[in-house]
Amino acid sequence: MSDCIFCKLISGEIPSTKIYEDDHVFVFMDIMPLTKGHILVIPKEHKESVYDLSEEQAANLFRVVPKLAKALKKTFHPAGMNLLNNNGAPAGQSVFHFHLHLIPRYDETDGFKATWRTKEKEYPLEKIQALATELSENI
Ligand code: AMP
Ligand code: ZN
Repeated sequence: MSDCIFCKLISGEIPSTKIYEDDHVFVFMDIMPLTKGHILVIPKEHKESVYDLSEEQAANLFRVVPKLAKALKKTFHPAGMNLLNNNGAPAGQSVFHFHLHLIPRYDETDGFKATWRTKEKEYPLEKIQALATELSENI
């Protein structure tokens, strides 16, 4: 896609700090890292979000994740690691080329918060069961 910033990183039109690439994926340092070693994994083919990925594209992308996570662990010795993918503006997506964040975590005050509280005080089990039934019918 001609106006996509991540496509421009892949083509080299815009410089990036690439750390890995293969036939299917491109991996680079996030320009505004949440923590030391924050990287992004993207498909080389322009796909906006998770809804647009084929099973094969998803497999190609996630295949490299364990070795990247291990490299981050070996290099920076984080205490933990968050994998994050935002889809759609309400979910926080700001670049509309699918990307998976790998965010090494050092402690609870390192600048990233991945904990949340449910809005509803109680989510009764029957309600969860009804949602599961509805959802599984659509897989
Ligand atoms: P999201 O908010 O999930 O769409 O994440 C987009 C991420 O892309 C942010 O963490 C940005 O810091 C990062 N980003 C945007 N432009 C660039 C760029 N030119 N090079 C590297 N990372 C970028
Ligand atoms: Zn793109």
